Amino acid sequence: MKRIALARRPSGSPVPEDFRYEDAPMPTPGEGEVLVKVLYMSLDPYMRGRMDDAKSYAKPVPVGGTMEGGAVGEVITSNSPHFKPGDIAFGMFGWASHGCLPGRELRKLDPSHGPITAALGVLGMPGFTGWFGLTEYGRPKEGETLVVAAATGPVGSMVGQIAKARGLRVVGIAGGAEKCKLAVEKFGFDVCLDHRAYADGREMRAALAEVCPKGIDIYFENVGGKVLEGVIPLMNVGARIPVCGMISWYDLGGLGSASDSPGKDNLPKLWRTILVNRMHVHGFIISDHFDRFPAFLSEVGPMVAKGQIAVQEDIAEGLENAPAAFMRMLKGGNFGKQIVKVA
Ligand code: NDP
Repeated sequence: MKRIALARRPSGSPVPEDFRYEDAPMPTPGEGEVLVKVLYMSLDPYMRGRMDDAKSYAKPVPVGGTMEGGAVGEVITSNSPHFKPGDIAFGMFGWASHGCLPGRELRKLDPSHGPITAALGVLGMPGFTGWFGLTEYGRPKEGETLVVAAATGPVGSMVGQIAKARGLRVVGIAGGAEKCKLAVEKFGFDVCLDHRAYADGREMRAALAEVCPKGIDIYFENVGGKVLEGVIPLMNVGARIPVCGMISWYDLGGLGSASDSPGKDNLPKLWRTILVNRMHVHGFIISDHFDRFPAFLSEVGPMVAKGQIAVQEDIAEGLENAPAAFMRMLKGGNFGKQIVKVA
């Protein structure tokens, strides 16, 4: 089998030398285990964090270890009573052509319910993240204003579409005119701003103030950086911020890393705004909440089937091209959910 290993820890943005495409022995399934041929694998921003050896909510990938990730594959051999050859399943198989896991760690997919790639995006972890973070911590109410960046990705587009369906004014932020067009025309955002057009938080704030005349009630945080700086002064009393990600800062490393000061210190102003506006800022890690996954599937699954939630996927070809697709996604080169077709 083939796999992509972490060759070394990145310094700043990942580069091709941080990854290694190599042969590995084909695993033999033990008691209760299932061997799968991977068909499609997911590329997600959290994988950047796994490449650093810093304190976080999950252990880092060891140097020389297989890059972590979710994938869908076809069962080849099964020692589990719940799977048979030919079944399609989702599991954390990693960046590899094959995976071997206990049957209880896999989720069987029914291909008659739609494209199996949906289990990696709109009806998988990222879609669930958007739905859960918005409904649980955003607590959207009709007539309110919501802002979300990375608006055309699988998390942001879910947030925008669910918020729109619940009667909010929905403002997206995305990189480039083409993505902004996609956000409005395909995902139904009321308006979308191109963050590349604004030099800093001040300019971002001025642009947001124009399109959010009643202030901002929910900021679904995906990116940090100048977007966060622009948003904070516009937040209303009682505003909510589900803190989901901060991709513009991922290359700075995690807690306890050497470089932990991203420029000018805005901490006092940020802290004061949270107090004065009695804001609710709630960080969450979706893996803590999978007990709600069935509720998500029963609400959003039918919406996807009826076309009420639009799906946008960006599929790269070949496991060997996964590092390039990953680096591209971290810089915003993806149009929708980034997937790799492995076989
Ligand atoms: P996307 O498919 O949206 O890909 C990431 C996007 O981030 C890029 O396409 C780019 O979009 C945007 N981006 C990259 N750099 C910057 C920057 N400097 N400033 C602004 N935007 C930038 O990713 P997902 O939808 O999968 O994930 C979105 C966020 O949700 C991420 O932060 C991710 O880590 C987080 N997440 C958190 C989870 C949790 O459990 N808390 C679970 C899943 C995801 P553009 O070109 O439009 O700027």
